[in-house]
Parts: sequence; C-alpha cells; structure tokens
Amino acid sequence: MNSDINFDKSPDGLIPAVIQDAQTGKVLMLGYMNRSAYDKTVAENVVTFFSRSKQRLWTKGETSTNFLHVQDIRVDCDGDTLLIKANPAGPVCHTGADTCFDEVNQNTAGKGQFLNYLQSIIHDRKVNPSEKSYTTTLFNRGVNKIAQKVGEEAVELVIEAKDSNDDLFKGEAADLLFHFLVLLEQKNIDLDDIIAVLERRHAKQ
Ligand code: AMP
Ligand code: ZN
Ligand code: ZN
Ligand code: ZN
Repeated sequence: MNSDINFDKSPDGLIPAVIQDAQTGKVLMLGYMNRSAYDKTVAENVVTFFSRSKQRLWTKGETSTNFLHVQDIRVDCDGDTLLIKANPAGPVCHTGADTCFDEVNQNTAGKGQFLNYLQSIIHDRKVNPSEKSYTTTLFNRGVNKIAQKVGEEAVELVIEAKDSNDDLFKGEAADLLFHFLVLLEQKNIDLDDIIAVLERRHAKQ
C-alpha cells in the first residue's frame, strides 16, 4: 500500500492523516505523516505522526498513554491523504475531550437527525436525573403534566400563528417540538416510531 501513497506531493513530504474511531465512526483528530511516521505506524500498529510543531516523530499518546491502536489504513483516490480507523486508548484531544471535533455536529449529519440526538439527551435526563435540569423536573411531574404542557405550547403556537412575528412563532414551534419529544420519552416511544407511522401512511398513497 505504501507505494500508492504520494508523500512527495508537498515539498515537506507530509500528508494529512484523518483519524476515525473504528467503533463509532467519529472523526477523532487530524495529524500529518511523512514516510517514516507512516512506516512506524504500520510496523507498530499504533499511530505515529510527524509533529509540525515539535519537528519530530510524535507517537500520539507518548506521554498521555492515550495511544491510537490502528485497525485499518486507507489511502484516498489520488494517494495524498490517509484515513486511519483506530481504537483510542483514551480521550484523543489534549483538552481531555474524546475528539478534537465538536461532538454535537458529528452526531447530526442533517438537521432532522438533531431531533434524534436531542431525544438521546432527553432520555439521559430521565435515566440520570439532574437537579438543575428542567427536563428532569418535567419527568418528575409525570405524564399528565407533560401532556398538559404540550397542549399549552400548542395553544401558544396557535396564538402566534395569527401574529406576524416569525421569531415568536418559531420560538413556540421549538417549545412544542421539545415538549413533544419529552412526552414521547415519558411514554418510552422513539421519534423513529412516529416517523415509521408517517412513512407507512405515505406508502399507502
Ligand atoms: P500525547 O501524545 O497524548 O501524549 O500528548 C503529548 C502532547 O501532544 C500534548 O501535550 C499536546 O501538546 C499534544 N497533543 C496531544 N493530543 C493532541 C491533539 N489531539 N491535537 C494536537 N495536539 C495534541
Ligand atoms: Zn487526495
Ligand atoms: Zn484536540
Ligand atoms: Zn411556549
């Protein structure tokens, strides 16, 4: 595979290596490799970069012990970028975060998927109650109160629909959507279950 890689495209002999979590598919970090960093990575099955700031080979985890254990190495279409699937031994970012990139954005490929992500947060507030969480207080009040809240937000949306202010209308629409998700969670129903109902109706047409 080494022969397919074009290290000499850039004058410093460095090519970017995207590190992806082999289990979750999340992008963890990006580093640069020259031929010797690449050879060491392949030989040891642990990611070694060439650090541009240190100007030397840098094995990720050399001081933190958060090594990146290589599962698969792929080369892009024109041989100037690597994609490495790895199993991280610990948090990858020097800030202590699991990834160097924003988790929220990685969890949401599209806007619709943000709702699924939000539902997972709401679920978390139910199973791990937190005193400071408004969502937790909703669950503590029970299903009738939550359903009532959905009704109130729907009425507020109706009122704003008659008004000409789009921002107020959007705010109430968001309130309704949020409390709707909380009600689903209280009843242990997945947003995907509701989407499935809509899809079945759509298929009948
Ligand atoms: P480590 O390789 O995890 O032992 O970290 C050694 C040093 O490399 C840290 O003190 C940081 O300066 C740097 N470093 C570690 N992780 C990253 C990262 N994900 N991105 C950029 N620099 C990093
Ligand atoms: Zn390329
Ligand atoms: Zn980072
Ligand atoms: Zn409202």
